[in-house]
Amino acid sequence: MRQIEKVSVLSNAPRCEDSDNVYFVQVDAAKCEQCGECEGRCATGAIQPRNGDEGPRTVIDPAACINCGQCLVNCPYGAIYEGVSFVNEIFAALKNPDTVVVSMPAPAVRYGLGEPFGYPIGTYVGGKMFAALRKLGFDYIWDNQMTADVTILEEGTELIHRLTGKIKKPLPQFTSCCPGWIKFAESFYPELIPHLSSCKSPIGMLGPLSKTYGAEVTGVEAKRIFSVSIMPCIAKKYEALRPEMADSGFRDIDATITTRELAYMIKKAGIDFNSLPEEEPDFDLGASTGAATIFGNSGGVMEAALRYAYEVVSGEKLTVPDITAVRSHKGVKEATVKIPSFGELKVCVVSGLDNAVPILEAVKSGKSPYHFIEVMTCPGGCVNGGGQPLFPDVRAGSLFKSIVARMNRRFAMRKTA
Ligand code: SF4
Ligand code: SF4
Repeated sequence: MRQIEKVSVLSNAPRCEDSDNVYFVQVDAAKCEQCGECEGRCATGAIQPRNGDEGPRTVIDPAACINCGQCLVNCPYGAIYEGVSFVNEIFAALKNPDTVVVSMPAPAVRYGLGEPFGYPIGTYVGGKMFAALRKLGFDYIWDNQMTADVTILEEGTELIHRLTGKIKKPLPQFTSCCPGWIKFAESFYPELIPHLSSCKSPIGMLGPLSKTYGAEVTGVEAKRIFSVSIMPCIAKKYEALRPEMADSGFRDIDATITTRELAYMIKKAGIDFNSLPEEEPDFDLGASTGAATIFGNSGGVMEAALRYAYEVVSGEKLTVPDITAVRSHKGVKEATVKIPSFGELKVCVVSGLDNAVPILEAVKSGKSPYHFIEVMTCPGGCVNGGGQPLFPDVRAGSLFKSIVARMNRRFAMRKTA
């Protein structure tokens, strides 16, 4: 087996060997008011009363937890917290003159990061985010949107190959970019694994690219590169620690933080976020299209993949690229797209795993009519992920206001993309 080198910085964060046994989400029993909201939000039953039918809640088994963080963002009492943080490790790497630290922020981060600095919910602050990363001392500002575009090319091509029989894999094809969904499928629907796209997620692609292509274009030795994934998602910490995420010959992703933790780092470093100028990512691994931005919205991956598949299969461009049928706020969305020289392509977009279960059961029993299914664990997609800033109204117990806030984040992302 190939030896995987590790960058020698301080670390008390977990390594790949034990990621299935790590509690990425934990409950502070002293703060738990036993309201049960978290159990209602959990699609796997991983969070339960610690004393049988009652008592403060706890994550009973990390193997059953898909690390989505939906319990955390919906706990009205702030009793649930992240069990793993790489913040100290990243600060140490930023101070280490032998280490070259690169940033890799996901599309949705730039639509949530403004909230802890007083911006209205969903405000796009991408330019300030890139400036803040430079101020923090990141050597290269690379962007996960770049590999969101690559994912579309890869996943769209795989779909076409499945449709045309060029590869012998079953339909429907499922998207594979959401790590909570992937762990859910592996744990509860292993028979559906052949339906999952073989593509890595955007960050799963950018991590190894940072240490191969990135090392080449910058002239920096790969072993000196420390790659930081910045995500709206707690499950991305789990994904980065999976043993197979080492295609570059090193750990592909050295550290993962959430949007909340990036806001904390900016505040801790004393950076005046609101006064920062608008900046751009570094071009080599930073250029992207609007299709990459909508990845963070439920339906976005589907829409981008359909545009690509339509063009490749028919040889024509869609006259109107907006596929509005997959854009609504509903948990399950269906659409039929007529593609010249192919026929009707039936697709489905699901967010929230409770919504996914009937669709998965239909696929299992061979009764699903779809060719392509997008699944996102978090309601509305990554823009409302478990690593995004918390809504004050959730703390105040206003479910209605928090639902409106989630919709506003989605509207904002669509409007500016
Ligand atoms: S939502 Fe929070 S307060 Fe309510 S039971 Fe769960 S952990 Fe306890
Ligand atoms: S992180 Fe997700 S899967 Fe884990 S206990 Fe919370 S809601 Fe359940």
